[in-house]
Amino acid sequence: MQRFNYPTTIYFGEGALPACAQSIKEDGAKKVLLVTDATLIKVGIAKQVESELTSAGLDVFLYADVHPNPTEDDVEQGAKQYLQHQCDALVGLGGGSPIDTAKIIAIAATHKGPLVQFDDTQGGDRLINGSILPPIYALPTTAGTGSEVGRSGVIITRESNNKTIIFHPLLMPKIAALEPKLTEGLPPTITAATGIDAFVHCLEAYLAPGFHPMADGIALEGMALILKHLPKAVADGHDLEARGAMQIAATMGATAFQKGLGMIHSLAHPLSSECRLHHGLANALLLPFSIDFIEQSNLDTEQKRRINKVRQLFPDAAETSLANLCRTFVTQLNIQLGLKQQNVNQRQLLLLSQKAYQDPCHQTNMIPVTEADLLQIYTQAY
Ligand SMILES: [Zn+2]
Repeated sequence: MQRFNYPTTIYFGEGALPACAQSIKEDGAKKVLLVTDATLIKVGIAKQVESELTSAGLDVFLYADVHPNPTEDDVEQGAKQYLQHQCDALVGLGGGSPIDTAKIIAIAATHKGPLVQFDDTQGGDRLINGSILPPIYALPTTAGTGSEVGRSGVIITRESNNKTIIFHPLLMPKIAALEPKLTEGLPPTITAATGIDAFVHCLEAYLAPGFHPMADGIALEGMALILKHLPKAVADGHDLEARGAMQIAATMGATAFQKGLGMIHSLAHPLSSECRLHHGLANALLLPFSIDFIEQSNLDTEQKRRINKVRQLFPDAAETSLANLCRTFVTQLNIQLGLKQQNVNQRQLLLLSQKAYQDPCHQTNMIPVTEADLLQIYTQAY
C-alpha cells in the first residue's frame, strides 16, 4: 500500500494574493497573524499584503521578528501575539523561514511546550492534536524551498541548539498563493541559489528509488520549467512570466520530494549549520560533483534510463554527461564553484562528512553512499 499526498490548494498567477485574502475571509477567519521578517517589512511587501488582507475584511496583526534560521524564541513570541490578539488563522509571508515559523506557531499556540518534544525524529508528531490547529496560509516570496506545500517546519530548539523538524499532516497550508510579483524583488544571486534548490529537489526526487510515478512526472516537468526559466529570472528579475514559472516549479519540487531526496541534500545541510552557507548555494556547489559520482557508479539499466531522461531535458544534451550539463547550468547562473570561495576551511571537511552521513536524506539516494564517499565529494567540490 502506498500513500500519495497532494492536497494543498494552489492559487497561481497575477491576482493570487487578493484571491487568497478573500478565501481566508470566506473560510471564516476574522483575525489573522501575519508572520514575516524584517526584510519584507523593509521592501514594503509586508505592507502590501497587510492592506490586501485588510481590504478583504480581516483584522491583521503583524509579527515580523522571524530570523533567517528561526528559533524557538521566534515561535514563542509569535504564539504570544497570536493568543494576545485572539487570532484564528496564520499567514506565513516570505521564504521558508516565516512560513515554517507560522506552522510551528500553530502548534505552540494550541499545545503545551517545550517544542523539542514534537521533534519528528523522536516520533513527536504523535503528540500533536491536528484537530485544534488553526488554518495556515502561505504566501511565498522566494521560489525554492517549497515550504508552502510542505507538512513540516524546521526551527532551532533551545535544548538541542540543532535544527529540529516538526511534522504533522495538518501543518500543510490550506492555500498556497503564488503571486509572481511577490518574488520580483529577489536579487539575482538569491534567485539563482533558490532556483537551484528547487532543481535539486526535482532531480533528487526523480532519481530516488521507490515507486512514485506521480512524483516522477511532477519532478521531470519541474526540471524542464527551471532549465527554461531560471536563466531568464536571474537575468531580468522583472520578467514575471519567468518568475511565475519558477514559483510553480519550486512548488512542484517540494511536492515531488515526498518521494525522497538524496546525497546532495545530506552534503548541503552541514554546510548551512556549520558554515552558514545559503542552502540553495550549498546545493549548487555540490550538484555537479555528486552527479558525477552517481554517473561513475555501477548503475543498472533503470538507473541509467533515469539519468539519461534528465540529461535529455537540457537543450544541448549531445554526448555530454549529466554532471557536465549541471556544471555548465550552475556556472551560467554566475555561481562560482568551489567551497573555498565561501570561506569553508579545508580542515572542516572531515567533520562535515560525518554530519552529512548522519543526515537522513542520503538514505533515498539513487545509490548507497559511505562517509568516505561524502568526504571525497566535499574534497572534489573544495
Ligand atoms: Zn532543499
